[in-house]
Amino acid sequence: MSKNIELYEESKLYSPGGVHTSIRNVNPMKVFTKGEGAYIYDADGKKYIDYQGAFGPIILGHSHPYVNRKVIEAIERTDLYGVGCTDLEVELARKICTHVPSSEQVLFCNSGSEATYHAIRLTRAITGRNKLIKFQGCYHGWHDYVARNMLSSWDMIGKRDPGSAGMLDEAIDNTLVCTFNDLDDVERTFRENKGQIASLIVEPIPHNIGCVMPQPGFLEGLSELCTAHGALLIFDEVITGFRHDIGGYQKVAGVTPDLTTMGKAMANGYPIAAVAGKREYMQRFNTYPGGDVWFAGTYNGHAVGTAASIATLELMENEPVHEHIFRLGEKMRSGIRGIHERLGIEAYVAGFGSVWTTYFMNNEPKNYSDLQQNDAELYVNYRKKLIEKGIFKMPMNIKRNHISYAHTDEDVDTTLTIIESVLKELVH
Ligand code: PLP
Repeated sequence: MSKNIELYEESKLYSPGGVHTSIRNVNPMKVFTKGEGAYIYDADGKKYIDYQGAFGPIILGHSHPYVNRKVIEAIERTDLYGVGCTDLEVELARKICTHVPSSEQVLFCNSGSEATYHAIRLTRAITGRNKLIKFQGCYHGWHDYVARNMLSSWDMIGKRDPGSAGMLDEAIDNTLVCTFNDLDDVERTFRENKGQIASLIVEPIPHNIGCVMPQPGFLEGLSELCTAHGALLIFDEVITGFRHDIGGYQKVAGVTPDLTTMGKAMANGYPIAAVAGKREYMQRFNTYPGGDVWFAGTYNGHAVGTAASIATLELMENEPVHEHIFRLGEKMRSGIRGIHERLGIEAYVAGFGSVWTTYFMNNEPKNYSDLQQNDAELYVNYRKKLIEKGIFKMPMNIKRNHISYAHTDEDVDTTLTIIESVLKELVH
């Protein structure tokens, strides 16, 4: 019997569905036992070139030797104290405040969901208002403030679509949903909820639906609308942060939000996240004397995450990490476009930097609604076939792919050859 199947069957005995995060239960189901550089290995020893990248954290490659060494060095001398602060926290905070434009001050937590929760609650305290704007299709974590209108079924777009049973009605109804790239919709929402909106949270590039780019002026427009209506702008850079630039996508776009949430690529797969922003706002957290917004967590600032993040940022500072992943991203996208041309396939290759996806539709999507045009069945079958041939992409509709610093030109060439053969098989 396959070791993969054997372990999966056992996993299901002990954990509901056999996985520890909702959408990890995919078909084909894999049990992974090793990750090294650009490659991952399942329990049967099959090797894959990995483009899932753990949904984005793996920016340097799996089990990166420098990051691992720095973590081991750190945990051989230090761990967690539950009081005071550590030298590692100081060093990491200094780095983030140096690189991320909106980060005058920063606080560490353990997951992106915690970071968005803290950021949103802070904006409610600052403004004395309750409502939040988010965009249809964007994901900001699992908590009640934001878990609505994520990957809604097409008939639920823009309607009241809680992402989970058990959510508080009040939380659902205080979160308003707008259409990405539609400033008129945002403006109307502000007008209709005059004086009630505390903040607007946005993935500057909504990567949770692949790669839908903000149209020129959109992010600037959000910033202006927030200022005009006395609301705070939160950039959720949990995916874009550190992956698209060491300063985040805000650095690329030249738009500085009031608050930023970060995670994922921040520590190459080790668990740590952050919320950052203007000093006057951050000092409302009760880590500051007199601050009245609760901020706590037993594991916040643990040596493992902080050491991993320092090491990851050091490599970004000292090596051509972004140059490499951007070049390979472009090589991948133009290679795939060439394949589509040769095979006469109408598809839209979307992407930015190290992230890309192929939508099986013939124009650029500007928002979640546009993605109805994508051929979902083909999108998923294509990915399943690629997995069979050793290219790992999430076998799910409108999911993105990531390139890491460990991927090589040869990996991209191999991937392109396999993509061409799979597409020939699927569409001819
Ligand atoms: N924000 C964005 C943009 C995300 O993509 C995610 C996770 O995918 C989160 C927040 C939540 O982060 P976490 O899964 O670490 O709680």
